[in-house]
Amino acid sequence: MNQIQPSLPGLNAIANWKPGSQLPGYCQTLPPGENVQTPPEAQQRLPTCSEICLKKESSLPAKRSCLNPMFGRLFTHAKNLLFQDGGSTALWFTRRSVKRSRMIYFDHNATTPMLPEARQAWLEAAERFIGNPSSPHRIGARADAALTEARQRLAIKLDCDPLDIVWTSGATEANNMALHHFASDECVQAWVSAIEHPCVLEAARHYFPNRLRLMPVTRAGTTNLDWLSEHLAETRPGFVAMMAANNETGVLQPWREILAMCRQYEVPFFCDATQWIGKSTCHGLGECDFVSGSAHKFGGPKGVGFLKCPSKGRVYPLLHGGPQEEGRRSGTENVAGVLSMLAALEARERSIAQGETEKRSVWRHCFERRLGHDLAGCEIVGSSQERLWNTVSALMPETDCQQRWVVKLDKIGFAVSTGSACASGREESSHVLAAMSYSPREASRVLRFSSGWETTEDDWRALAEALIKVSCGLSVEMTRRNS
Ligand code: PMP
Repeated sequence: MNQIQPSLPGLNAIANWKPGSQLPGYCQTLPPGENVQTPPEAQQRLPTCSEICLKKESSLPAKRSCLNPMFGRLFTHAKNLLFQDGGSTALWFTRRSVKRSRMIYFDHNATTPMLPEARQAWLEAAERFIGNPSSPHRIGARADAALTEARQRLAIKLDCDPLDIVWTSGATEANNMALHHFASDECVQAWVSAIEHPCVLEAARHYFPNRLRLMPVTRAGTTNLDWLSEHLAETRPGFVAMMAANNETGVLQPWREILAMCRQYEVPFFCDATQWIGKSTCHGLGECDFVSGSAHKFGGPKGVGFLKCPSKGRVYPLLHGGPQEEGRRSGTENVAGVLSMLAALEARERSIAQGETEKRSVWRHCFERRLGHDLAGCEIVGSSQERLWNTVSALMPETDCQQRWVVKLDKIGFAVSTGSACASGREESSHVLAAMSYSPREASRVLRFSSGWETTEDDWRALAEALIKVSCGLSVEMTRRNS
């Protein structure tokens, strides 16, 4: 939204208006002819007067303000003011509506906004590499070379062989591909942690209907390593799947320890690192046999990701067709998406290396302390464990429905989640909290706040204030209903 840009004579006059106070809003000019939906009552021409009588912000939407006829027409439109002058239209946003429309985004575990570096890389690549990497001419070869270079850059970050990397449309596809691959051996058992993302759990249920064992987690949300070592000593599954960091609670999983155990028993280890990558360094992840990642979780574009899998030996493809990706994944590669993903990853890795996560952990910690202090009955899920620096999963004070929190917070400008994005919207209890032994009633009180790199200390403070305010409102409502 642009601050006053008076491109029309009428707007110029409004901008110069001086009845002793500041201008009451922001203005955005719209291209001539752009159709703005206006309520029927606003269609009529307003009476004109010789004086601009824009009132103080507080009375703006209530009063139809009017203008000198030389400036054109001005009328209210959805509580904003719409100004028309000949073929041009300008929307005049009252301060109040601007404030209300600004959302502070606390749902970065669902998806993140694209980084400027990633956007730039995407635009450049889309222009430079127009060819299909499989085409036999130089234009195709250039696109192929760009992909090869990107593969090398990701391999450096993960510490693996560039040929271990298969580009995918995101982590859902990468995870499905890994499970589909393991399922090609009809005898093996799948050991999958009970807190995996639905795209791992559901794929596991699909491919291993009678051969799936869910690995338990502790009440604090980490893998039960004792269970794993005891069971590995007795029998060998076809693979073990454990995510690096949980998307709902942010609890970090001991993937290095599990990798070591799997090595000892020669069992392949598959790690969904979707929430880890871009928040913690991905150095060393390449040692896992299978690793998945997704660009839109760390400032890259949506619809692109990767699976790191062994380049030696056969990996069974999920998608059949052309011979792309060494026959492991058919379909024309998303060159611009891949290059943009790499630009985002490298930017995030630089910030991590510069220690940028530390102060953000402190902000998160202060937020949690404030909730503990000022919101009776609030409990942080997994608080005793190491967690992603951006995630807070909080058991909120009792209300009849957690969705009410989300709606109320949304109204006052905060986007938060009740669980994983895939589960929100459905009134289903979280399988992650259930695996952590939370009752359905407790689970229904949980909200997830996940910040991003751009989130400020003030944003965290504002969220704490907002939660306290909403909590007061909700408890008053509950008392009224119960009395
Ligand atoms: N795994 C985890 C841990 C996730 O958080 C998500 C996204 N919520 C996915 C997999 C799926 O990723 P994508 O959106 O790229 O399919």
